[in-house]
Amino acid sequence: METILVLAHTEADGSPAQTVRESLHAAVNLHQASPDSKLVVGLIGTNVEAAANAIAACPATKYFGVTGAEFAQPRYATDCAAAEAICKSAQATIVIAPATARWNRVLAGLAQRLGGRADTHVTGISAESGVIGISRWYYRQRMEALVQRTQRPWIVAIDPGSQTPCNCGAGTAVVEVISMQIPEASLRTKVVGVRAPAADAQTIRPDAKLLFVTGAGWTKKQADGQTHVPEAEHLIRDFLKVSRASLGSSKSLVDLGGEGQAILPFLSHLNQIGQTGATPRHPKGLSTCCHGEEPHTVGWRFIAERRAISLDANCGWARGKTDVLYVADAFQVMQKVNALLAANP
Ligand SMILES: Cc1cc2nc3c(=O)[nH]c(=O)nc-3n(C[C@H](O)[C@H](O)[C@H](O)COP(=O)(O)OP(=O)(O)OC[C@H]3O[C@@H](n4cnc5c(N)ncnc54)[C@H](O)[C@@H]3O)c2cc1C
Repeated sequence: METILVLAHTEADGSPAQTVRESLHAAVNLHQASPDSKLVVGLIGTNVEAAANAIAACPATKYFGVTGAEFAQPRYATDCAAAEAICKSAQATIVIAPATARWNRVLAGLAQRLGGRADTHVTGISAESGVIGISRWYYRQRMEALVQRTQRPWIVAIDPGSQTPCNCGAGTAVVEVISMQIPEASLRTKVVGVRAPAADAQTIRPDAKLLFVTGAGWTKKQADGQTHVPEAEHLIRDFLKVSRASLGSSKSLVDLGGEGQAILPFLSHLNQIGQTGATPRHPKGLSTCCHGEEPHTVGWRFIAERRAISLDANCGWARGKTDVLYVADAFQVMQKVNALLAANP
């Protein structure tokens, strides 16, 4: 019989993040597909009651918690010790955790301590014919593998955005708090502050419905023989403001900065989509002034509905890589789109 543990840490305000609900969704599905299984939840944070109550209507039969000020901050030593204590108390055989930055630092070490195995970047869990399997992508999202393991405990890190968040409602959860003695030496690492861009400068928005991709065409000479970078910057910024889209880029455009050419100042390599960039998950994508070459579009693997605007009717997008290709001037199209969005907010 499998004991499925959803392992989560709370947010600074004590709530469970959306990624926790995504892991819970995968765990509930697995639990329902495995008739003899048990579903339990383990939470780590200053205080985990609010997080447990927020998801109390889920089919978990038990809640474990490790609480205290020392578990508020992400820190390998305390996080790993707390996760180990929860896994042992729950006698977990399958541990499902959101692949947050905090957990990604801990889960491999946790598997080592428990004599188990860990799989990362998991995008699906199944239990066909009673055999549990996970799916994950390899070779820059070109091949999907189904992995089965006999080793337990099996720690599974779920890629954020790959699951529908569970809509388990609130209730009252009884949390079994595990008391822990943390040695002074385990508290040496401290988070002394957080540096984050201002909300408006933050252009990478994993939760956005739309991925808006900018290509090198925005900085190229246009029909009048001139470049129009300031105008491009305006159009892109205005569109992002009204649409709240996440901003992606082709490699060529982000590389231009390094080559000393005029470039859009709000783009960095973090925005790059593709083989050597990111593979984000958004329901829709709109590509502008980008040629749609394979090394770029391989990063679009998880974009469900795709549209592109390019002047070139023979660009890569036209070769089956997009649902709709507008062979048009993106400057003109985006000006019109922004005007329509401003008129109908
Ligand atoms: C090993 C390897 C890894 C790579 N990894 C990546 C990666 O991760 N991501 C990535 O993006 N690339 C990657 N590349 C590079 C990739 O092959 C392309 O060179 C790059 O994506 C091209 O960028 P682009 O389409 O923006 O620019 P271009 O190829 O210069 O295309 C610009 C496009 O803009 C159009 N255009 C110009 N003006 C307008 C206008 N006014 N309106 C509409 N359209 C206009 C043009 O018609 C053209 O189609 C990789 C390459 C290699 C070899």
